[in-house]
Amino acid sequence: MRKSISAKWVQTAVACLTIALIGCLLTAFSFYSWNVNAAEKAKDALLVGVPPDRCPMFYNDPETGEIVGIGADLMTEASKEAGYTVTFREITEPTLKDALDNPEYDVILPFGSAISSASGQACVISAPLFQTPLTLVTVQGQDLPAILRMKVGMLKSQGGVADTVSSMYPDIEITLYDTVKDCVAALRGGEVQALLNNSYLWSYILQKPSYADLEVHTTEMLSMDFCAGTPDTEKGRAIIERLNAGIGALDNTKRQAVILDYTTRKLYEYDIFDHIYAHRVFLGFGAVFFWSFVFLIIRRLRLMRGEHEKTVKKLVDQDPLTGALSMNGFRKRVTELLEAHPDIPYMISYNNIRDFKFINDSYGKAVGDELLRFWAERSMMVLTEEEAIGRAESDHMVVLCRVGGGAKIARDEEIVLDPVRNYFLDRGKDLRVQMSSGVYVLTPEDYEHPDVDHMLDLARVVEKKVRESGRDGFDLYNQEQWEKEKWIADLVGHLRTAIRTNELLIWYQPQVDFETKEISGAEALCRWKHAKLGCIPPSEFIPALENSGSIYELDCYVWDKVCQDLHRWNEKGKHMTVSVNVSRCDIHDNPNLADHFRDLIEKYNLSPDQLKVEITESAYVEDSSLLIRITQELNAYGFQVEMDDFGSGYSSLNMLKEVPVNRIKLDLRFLNDDGDPVKGRIIIECMIHMARALGMDIIAEGVETVDQAEFLNSLGCSEMQGYYFYKPMPVSEFEEH
Ligand code: C2E
Ligand code: CA
Ligand code: CA
Repeated sequence: MRKSISAKWVQTAVACLTIALIGCLLTAFSFYSWNVNAAEKAKDALLVGVPPDRCPMFYNDPETGEIVGIGADLMTEASKEAGYTVTFREITEPTLKDALDNPEYDVILPFGSAISSASGQACVISAPLFQTPLTLVTVQGQDLPAILRMKVGMLKSQGGVADTVSSMYPDIEITLYDTVKDCVAALRGGEVQALLNNSYLWSYILQKPSYADLEVHTTEMLSMDFCAGTPDTEKGRAIIERLNAGIGALDNTKRQAVILDYTTRKLYEYDIFDHIYAHRVFLGFGAVFFWSFVFLIIRRLRLMRGEHEKTVKKLVDQDPLTGALSMNGFRKRVTELLEAHPDIPYMISYNNIRDFKFINDSYGKAVGDELLRFWAERSMMVLTEEEAIGRAESDHMVVLCRVGGGAKIARDEEIVLDPVRNYFLDRGKDLRVQMSSGVYVLTPEDYEHPDVDHMLDLARVVEKKVRESGRDGFDLYNQEQWEKEKWIADLVGHLRTAIRTNELLIWYQPQVDFETKEISGAEALCRWKHAKLGCIPPSEFIPALENSGSIYELDCYVWDKVCQDLHRWNEKGKHMTVSVNVSRCDIHDNPNLADHFRDLIEKYNLSPDQLKVEITESAYVEDSSLLIRITQELNAYGFQVEMDDFGSGYSSLNMLKEVPVNRIKLDLRFLNDDGDPVKGRIIIECMIHMARALGMDIIAEGVETVDQAEFLNSLGCSEMQGYYFYKPMPVSEFEEH
């Protein structure tokens, strides 16, 4: 029994072993035959390396993504004849020579001759798949220079061809570029005289619109063989041998058909840039039209927005009943005006119609509204652009206006106040409108920090007082300020009349040479004998005229009068010299002041040395560049320019080196006023030395004592002016000296 069991075991084991053995044999066999097949297959497949983007020889078909082209198609045909299947791959190496060293490729295309690889390995090449004619391209109209000494541009990837050309024409200078675009740029830029490449490439690429200025020179230069190459190894030689058989089987008709397919029959495919270039004129106009359209739309939208904003602003800033500003608008406008016109003396009034409620109740609200409208309308008739009117509440109107003189007050009464007071009387009703107003005159502080509500509060307090006192009229918050501003306004308003009626007089203060005691000149000083206000000192009317912008008018009058006097004296054979004052405002009113003086002396037939121009030191500090120019111009015309009030403390001494003044007028009063008199004398001494050292003349004014005169003279300053010698005097008196 045990025996029979072990015999069964042995039988089973043998059977299993036999099956396993057969299985192993079968597996080994199939593995062997698969390997043999793979090896056989690998033998018939070629991986062909080709340069990238070299249409029409090799390029990626945009539809299939495969590499096609004359070179690719002929290689496929020849390989098929030789029993190979081919796969193309674009080489990533910079040149074909480098690609030869990459063992992954079976063959590389194209070679014109059997060049060696980058590492120096020899190579074998096939019979030519076809012949490529090489032609030259230049910029249109350019003469082709003698071929042997030409500078030629070629593609870097055609280094092999370049080597061949160099060996055939050693005097040709070849420069290699990365892309066709670079080649063309070099040609256009004159770096090279012609480009060399195969005719097929030219016939394709020159269809590009932006290359329309290039021209092919049909005289063939040379023909290059187009062969497959591979390192010279046993495997390489075998491949080439097999390929050659395939190439031999290609007939010429086939070759021509392929070439035609990719050149004449294949139209160059425009890329986006080509389309843009080809339609550039149209696109240019289109762009201009488009942007103009966009611009107009934006402008229109802005205008619409602006109008909308204006409407909204009007609603917010304007009182719909009277057309005056709302309180909000009034606040804004007043702030703007004060900032823009710090020089205008303003006042704010708060005005109220007494018993307006009674008017509304007796005649109806519509009549009350009509009265308010009438009041606003009349007020607007007298207000200028620099003034404003607003409605504070029901019958309360607020006004910002210039402080005016008597004339303005009379005009306001006539045009606004009387017609409003008589509104009902004029319409046959027995009611006189009574008004109370409070006036606040602005102080300099109000211009710096405008607080409209505060100013209105002050005006309202005064208005309340007037109303409560039962008076009809106005009162002032700051009487003194108002009086002052009114006085100035009256004075300025009177200037023209004053000139016409000879209220303005020219007085002369002689200038003396202390050594000889002779009069060497005079300063012209203006005096105003006002018909109503009496004699007004220059210290009052000059600043008032400067602030109101009228000083130029006065000065022109003074200069003219002085020239008339000089002319008269010349006629009498007395050649005098007079210094005239120029305000800092004059140079702003007339930046061509030098021409004005030149015209004056021409008009009165004077010589320029008879007129000295005094410009105050502070003006040079405020406007140095403009004044330097005017001073230079005056100098050029032959006038002497003096820096007046030197020592009044504004200038830096450094300025003296920039300003081309001829004489410094040292005012002793500025140096004697306060402080240590000893130090004052030291300063005067230094100033005189400095003026001399700088080559400037010096005159001292404000000389009141003999001590001062002798002290100045001992320092070498002999020209003097002051009460010690003469006070300013009328022209008739001056003529006697
Ligand atoms: P200023 O140009 O410095 O003129 C000199 C002023 O000093 C004159 O005052 C003169 O009378 C005064 N003065 C002369 N010597 C003495 C003296 O020894 N002691 C004292 N205490 N004063 C003396 P005035 O005429 O009152 O003129 C004052 C200022 O008004 C002038 O100062 C000048 O800046 C200006 N001014 C006068 N007339 C004109 C003018 O026609 N046009 C312009 N733009 N300004 C003028
Ligand atoms: Ca002066
Ligand atoms: Ca002076």
